[in-house]
Amino acid sequence: MRRFHAGWVLAPLLVACATTPGGRSQLLLVPDEQMEQLGVAAFERMKATDRLSVVPAKSAYAQCIVDALVAELPPRWRRLRWEAQAFAVAEPNAFALPGGKVGINTGLLRVATTQDELAAVLAHEIAHVVYRHAGERVSQQQLAGVGLSLAQAYAGRNASPDQVDLLIAALGAGVQVGVLLPFSRAHETEADLAGQELMARAGFDPAAAVRLWKAMQAATGSRGRPPRILSTHPDPGQRIEALAQRVERLRPVFEQARAAGRRPACRSGD
Ligand SMILES: [Zn+2]
Repeated sequence: MRRFHAGWVLAPLLVACATTPGGRSQLLLVPDEQMEQLGVAAFERMKATDRLSVVPAKSAYAQCIVDALVAELPPRWRRLRWEAQAFAVAEPNAFALPGGKVGINTGLLRVATTQDELAAVLAHEIAHVVYRHAGERVSQQQLAGVGLSLAQAYAGRNASPDQVDLLIAALGAGVQVGVLLPFSRAHETEADLAGQELMARAGFDPAAAVRLWKAMQAATGSRGRPPRILSTHPDPGQRIEALAQRVERLRPVFEQARAAGRRPACRSGD
């Protein structure tokens, strides 16, 4: 009986060993497929809630940029049905959920005023998905059980709103539901570096990542404080410096992309 029980306990470990695209090993207790189902379900819920309203013209703008970035991902990630939506929220923020669901707040467009600056944010968020950071966080925080039971609850439609908000936050969209659950410093650094390279490969200027985070630092929120995205993204000064150092190395990647005809021209829909 005990042996039988141990088998159940060990079963999740079969999916626990994984490696990031950057070569770091990570703990994943929830299979990709389930994380993707949860991401899609959470996104549908966000679109349906009366706390959030979708802005179609800005959604199309974000979708155009996401499509250009996704075209440069490995096939496994291109296969997802990537969808971008803009939500009418003043707080400048963005997120990407497992399953390829991307959200921006319209308030972000006051800070990311050019296509390339918005691409810097979206590439960073897409990198969180490709590095499976949400799955890793859900596993690390022992939310795996919550994730699994919520997947069942979605089928049965009886998850409590608090559980759903916590899970959405764990997936990476905390500001939208008011539960702050920042990614770790290691996750942020990975997303910064991978995101900046992704944008260069897609034909967006990698220097725009530096401009964007400087603008974010200069921006103040509605209550006269810096945007919360900075408090969930550690050490803004250090990250700007790291991004700036990479610009020259990524310059040839960017120029090659432009020469190959990757010249995204997304319009903000004003
Ligand atoms: Zn991040």
